[in-house]
Amino acid sequence: MKYSVVLPVYNEEENLPTLYKRIIKVLTSLKADYEIIFVNDGSNDKTKNILVNLNKKNPRVKIINFSRNFGHQTAVSAGLQHTSGEVAAILDADLQDPPEILPKFFAKLDQGFDVVYAVRKKRKENIIKVMAYSLFYKLLHVIASVNIPLDSGDFCVLSQRMVKTINSFPERNRFVRGLRSWAGFKQVGLEYERDQRFAGESKYGLRKMLKLAFDGIFSFSFIPLQIMFFLGSISLALSLIGSLWAVYMRFFTTAYNRVPGFATTIILIMFVGGLQLFSIGVMGEYLRRIYDEVKQRPLYIIESKVGFE
Ligand code: UDP
Ligand code: MG
Repeated sequence: MKYSVVLPVYNEEENLPTLYKRIIKVLTSLKADYEIIFVNDGSNDKTKNILVNLNKKNPRVKIINFSRNFGHQTAVSAGLQHTSGEVAAILDADLQDPPEILPKFFAKLDQGFDVVYAVRKKRKENIIKVMAYSLFYKLLHVIASVNIPLDSGDFCVLSQRMVKTINSFPERNRFVRGLRSWAGFKQVGLEYERDQRFAGESKYGLRKMLKLAFDGIFSFSFIPLQIMFFLGSISLALSLIGSLWAVYMRFFTTAYNRVPGFATTIILIMFVGGLQLFSIGVMGEYLRRIYDEVKQRPLYIIESKVGFE
């Protein structure tokens, strides 16, 4: 049995030594073969050097250096594509996902599951982030075409056939936890306490967070398109009623000229204009994704690999 641990890293120099120590302790206790794959997502601190030194110390440490920052989800995907074990684990490199619970997860996998994903009991992060995440997951849960479990992130262990399945998805705007749910097989969630980041700042800025949220929604749901159609139909129906009313007032009453109507007109124009722009925006999101797929660019560019045969 060989375990593959995949870790996306972006400027995590302060975390790597402790992370490595804790992971090694867990993996050696399992008394099995293992590999630790660090995907260096274009870090510009000492991450790369630290990783190379780890590899010199322990050849089971493997490194994939990206040519630039391609993002967390892409790094996880690249890591999965390079695993050679029968079982894979995905962890964040900031020690928010404690490696000590991996044996419990691996044991669960042995019971015939293909995915054991971690469910956060509670988040020890700032209140705005917690609320934003909670809202996003609820929204996604309601509109996604597959059941993406609440409060589960990328922290999970996967069977070999699950890894192969996820690797076979060619899509570019990747939302790994969504792909994982989409793939099916037997999945189970285990609760855990998500720790605070060990050192350094979060590498997920607002832009990256929004991209992740959009990938989750637009890659796993057509409901935004359907809502557009629905809203468009309603506004069409309302305008039809309005026109009939205007004709009636003009020809069958004398009150027509006394109707002020200015504000109503402006509001209606703004409403319809807003609705149209919003709808174009929603269509644009799908179009952007189609364009991205059609271009067929590779998912990421590797600058160098260390430790792979
Ligand atoms: N990460 C990455 N590329 C990025 C951003 C983040 O590989 O562009 C890694 C980061 O090093 C960490 C994991 O993804 O191992 C999760 O990132 P972070 O802890 O900053 O996110 P948060 O926990 O704050 O949501
Ligand atoms: Mg983190």
